[in-house]
Amino acid sequence: MKNVKSRNAKPYTGPPQKVVVLGTGWASVNFFRHLDPNIYDVTVISPRNYFTFTPLLPSVCAGTLSPLSCIEPVRSLTYRNGRKVADFYEAHCTDVDFKNRIVACDSRQGGHFKVKYDYLVIAVGSESNTFGIKDVAANAFFLKEVEHAMAIRKKVMNNFELAALPQTSEKERDRLLHFVVVGGGPTGVESAAEFADFIKEDMSKYFPQLIPHVSISLIEGGSRLLGTYPPDISAFAEKTLTEELHVKLLLRSTVVGVDATSVRYVSNEPGASKEPKELLHGFVLWASGVGEVPLVKKIIAENFPNVEGKPRLRGLPVDAQLRLLNQPNVYALGDCAAIAPPRLADAAQELFSKAGAAEPTPQWLGRHAPTLAQQFPQLSPLKFNFAKLQSNEHLPADQFKSFLAEIDAAYRPPAPTAQNARQEGIYLAKVFNECPHPEEKADAPAFQETWNGSLAYVGSGQAVAHLPYFNIKGGFLSLPFWKAVYTQMQITWRSRTICLFDWLKTFFAGRDVGR
Ligand code: FAD
Ligand code: NAD
Repeated sequence: MKNVKSRNAKPYTGPPQKVVVLGTGWASVNFFRHLDPNIYDVTVISPRNYFTFTPLLPSVCAGTLSPLSCIEPVRSLTYRNGRKVADFYEAHCTDVDFKNRIVACDSRQGGHFKVKYDYLVIAVGSESNTFGIKDVAANAFFLKEVEHAMAIRKKVMNNFELAALPQTSEKERDRLLHFVVVGGGPTGVESAAEFADFIKEDMSKYFPQLIPHVSISLIEGGSRLLGTYPPDISAFAEKTLTEELHVKLLLRSTVVGVDATSVRYVSNEPGASKEPKELLHGFVLWASGVGEVPLVKKIIAENFPNVEGKPRLRGLPVDAQLRLLNQPNVYALGDCAAIAPPRLADAAQELFSKAGAAEPTPQWLGRHAPTLAQQFPQLSPLKFNFAKLQSNEHLPADQFKSFLAEIDAAYRPPAPTAQNARQEGIYLAKVFNECPHPEEKADAPAFQETWNGSLAYVGSGQAVAHLPYFNIKGGFLSLPFWKAVYTQMQITWRSRTICLFDWLKTFFAGRDVGR
């Protein structure tokens, strides 16, 4: 791990320091599994007594994989080489008393309790964002958890069984078998692709009479699917879904309402009528991005009031070392955190003097970026591309400061992905292990994420990949590549084995069509 430099820390001889970790997701599991149990006494608290391998959830919705292939019991993760490295309580954290260093929790089985900490690591993830649109939670399905995937599968099967009944009218069959996906990001695209495969490869065998009634619509507010991928990958995904799997794409269309039987959307095309159009549905998957979980909303409301006129970032504001602002012994990682690094513009004077009279140029800053990025992550290669700068002009102090302010403004916190949450967990464990004394932690270098690429399954046996050195747009090796990457990313051999067996089972015997 290259984020934290090896250092000769003073050996720690004190009693184990109490670390409370909230959550059992990508960030928390990668944190506590890498922590030195000789220095820290770890307690993990989460309402979920298992880790979820989220990238495979769309495959569970369609029955391509069983739920067991993407969960890992936390109890087994709290042991390393036969030694217990963490305690686990199955509970929700409901409140944090930062002053007295206590978390309050509600057990899943009923009852409350409190736990004291020396360090608190908040890694409670995110939930689906409904953007305040009324009735979405009551009428649509989300896909963040294994339970969601199982509920979706049950709903789809129920709709097929209902549609197959003799008394169901043709019109009702069309409605029951219209599956709507809202959001054309990777969750929406992969889910639509898995539903379409399931219907084409399996349901068509068992319900051939219903296939003319089946339709899938994917509604996306932007002008293309997979908006964070290059446009040619988006175009490939759109072609595969529409031409091979007959998914109906509604681009530049924003959903504004969902009720039990219909969704309403408005067109974003310039000059188009703003009158909502209606689509009848039998099932809606809401995949429009991530929002804050209740605990995060509460901490923000109580500790980080909105600065008037300034839209705040999503998530708990943390500094470049992932410490919650104003709370040096509390850390936040993964989807629930938003890094707000120290501003370069505020250090302009110091940097200007450092550069010396001859050299306050963008190129000077570029040359020193690798070192300075250890304090200001906005200078890391992933965040600012110095190679693109044309001018090597000597800048007077005020222009140098404006240039730094531009870099500050261009900074975006790490995206809410599993790969970033994992890197943050490993980074923080390394900081904790190498800097066991509280005062050393403050000097740790900033977290800088590495981008290893993004993959998505787009249906019909085709996957796409946006990678650092090349891209993949389908092809017969794309799906084996996608599977190999995710198998390797699984955190134990147990899940890898279950996953491989499930893929083999689906390949030879098809998906289950029971509930
Ligand atoms: P999570 O993994 O969501 O874990 C949060 C944990 O906190 C959970 O255990 C939860 O139960 C717990 N928790 C919640 N509230 C509390 C509370 N009050 N007290 C205690 N514990 C609490 N990213 C990729 O990089 N690649 C992919 O292919 C990919 N595919 C995805 C597919 C789907 C369908 C989804 C939904 C996401 C996908 N992501 C992917 C994104 C990735 O899953 C998230 O970015 C990642 O899970 C974030 O990790 P986390 O640890 O912050 O949160
Ligand atoms: P996202 O934010 O990536 O995409 C949501 C999409 O929904 C956007 O394109 C947005 O324009 C659209 N949208 C929002 N509101 C809408 C509305 N009312 N009507 C129509 N469209 C609307 O969300 P996601 O796909 O859930 O992904 C969340 C995070 O998880 C992202 O960081 C993503 O990279 C990650 N993820 C990665 C993978 C992968 O790498 N294969 C898979 C799933 C999720």
